[in-house]
Amino acid sequence: MREPGRMPVVGMIGGGQLARMTQQAAIGLGTPLRVLAASPQDSAALVCADVRIGEHTSAADLRSFAKGCDVVTFDHEHVPPALIEELESAGTICRPGSAALLHAQDKLVMRERLSAIGAPCPRYAPLPADDPMAALRAFADQVGLPLVLKATRGGYDGKGLWILDDLDAGAAALVERLLGEGVALMAEEHVPFRRELAALVARSPHGQGAAYPVVETVQRDGICHEVIAPAPGLEEERAVQAQRLALEIAERLGVTGLLAVELFELESGLVVNELAMRPHNSGHWTIEGARTSQFEQHLRAVLDLPLGSAEPTARHVVMANVLGGDDADIYPRYIHVMARDPAVKVHFYGKQVRLGRKIGHVTALGDDLEETLERARHAAAYLRWGPALGPAEEGR
Ligand code: ADP
Repeated sequence: MREPGRMPVVGMIGGGQLARMTQQAAIGLGTPLRVLAASPQDSAALVCADVRIGEHTSAADLRSFAKGCDVVTFDHEHVPPALIEELESAGTICRPGSAALLHAQDKLVMRERLSAIGAPCPRYAPLPADDPMAALRAFADQVGLPLVLKATRGGYDGKGLWILDDLDAGAAALVERLLGEGVALMAEEHVPFRRELAALVARSPHGQGAAYPVVETVQRDGICHEVIAPAPGLEEERAVQAQRLALEIAERLGVTGLLAVELFELESGLVVNELAMRPHNSGHWTIEGARTSQFEQHLRAVLDLPLGSAEPTARHVVMANVLGGDDADIYPRYIHVMARDPAVKVHFYGKQVRLGRKIGHVTALGDDLEETLERARHAAAYLRWGPALGPAEEGR
């Protein structure tokens, strides 16, 4: 570990916006951050002083990156589990460790483990490569249609997920094609949820835990559009249940760092959708909306420092993602957004603008929920489209 007289170095694998915002928190803490980025143009590589360029799938790149890091953590879950195990065997401290992280990397492993510890999950079935359609038909007999087909690994922002309305020839062709491409698959019941929630907690190696208020997340086309903290109208009992569930999962799985538990809220209760063990889009609101941002909290947790307060700083906080639109020249639109509402906070990730790509977010804090929602939505929609709002941007 750390030599006396110097701050411990955190290494983060992946150079996306999560690493970029973690750099911002590291500046405040005064702890050096090293980032492994695929290119000098990556979002975090543009702002970090200590950037190594390399591939997160290369054992050699990971080894040389880890040398001199006191602890290694992650900006995404795409590092192959075997390579993380290799780093750990060579003495690198990884937080979360490979055994915990696997539950954020493999949806089938996650479902099996969560079911074993009694966490509520949708019903699911693994799909064997030899007769997947027979397995799907047997599963559909139990849970009905539609079914959700999921790649067990590598999915994000709704990629790696297919809704099957029928188990017809089209579905069989899709399954055959995916299996042929080496994509491992599972099926899940289609959950008739009321809305989606997220419970964000941190856990340190000492076992200290901290829980943020439970938020509502609004997705469109598989991408998170809006986060409302705290989740409007969520009964206290259910909110506490979600926080307890997230803390329990963190403890039982041995998570160190942040854990985001994505949840479906049904009339009858909560079920877990999936887990992330890193700063999460559902926690960006904490930069202004909580005493300790999720990025600082993640650093504190992986460094085994005492955790910071997760108390909110306002009655209502709304975060809206800014997606790339038709017009790449965003800067002129800053003027309108900043002049209209000096209290809205704008965050940009230094990414090339591409249609539908997450390029930034805005956050509004307020006492009135409807007004706070309107302010965040207007700013995000305006930054994306300019003066004329696209129809998809109107309403929730
Ligand atoms: P990703 O790994 O791409 O984020 P998720 O498993 O989180 O994929 O699913 C993305 C979205 O698809 C969810 O936010 C939810 O809206 C929908 N979804 C996922 N699983 C189910 C399910 N079992 N039933 C209904 N909708 C689902």
